[in-house]
Amino acid sequence: MNTAIYPGSFDPVTLGHLNIIKRASVCFDRLVVCVMVNSAKRGLFRPEERVELLRRCTQSLPNVEIDRSDELLAAYARRRGARVVVKGLRAVSDYEQEVQMAVINRKLNPDLETMFLASSDKYTYLSSTIVKEMARYGADLGEFLPREIVDDVMEKMQERKAD
Ligand code: ADP
Repeated sequence: MNTAIYPGSFDPVTLGHLNIIKRASVCFDRLVVCVMVNSAKRGLFRPEERVELLRRCTQSLPNVEIDRSDELLAAYARRRGARVVVKGLRAVSDYEQEVQMAVINRKLNPDLETMFLASSDKYTYLSSTIVKEMARYGADLGEFLPREIVDDVMEKMQERKAD
């Protein structure tokens, strides 16, 4: 089976991520979307909540699996039997860091290739960070987030403000 991994923070999943998930899922037998847990960074959502939000948005995609890991990506891919990592590229600003990561990952796991999908023009400006910034000010998130999760993000932001 031809398996690819799409790793990220997904805090939370945006329409930009979902666009990459849909496009990548038709290229592989199985696409594993993995929430990579970075313990140094406290997110808006806990890793298990991000997994649940991702599952809700990808229910209609039968060959997409959602997982989480705190391993190195190169080790995780080896354990899952995946030879391809999919990354989305928004702008030149993503390029340098993503290429650096791709080279390092291939050093750590020579069987692992990184493939880049260019972001859809509608979503080149979109990041989870921008969405969180807008949510903080109560902006309408319908254009940026899958509709299944808009309320969850607004509620979580209200909870955070009340903390
Ligand atoms: P973010 O920068 O939104 O916090 P993540 O760490 O969750 O992103 O990103 C995971 C992957 O998804 C990365 O490859 C990133 O470049 C890609 N990605 C994020 N947002 C978009 C988008 N709007 N369009 C295309 N790819 C994206």
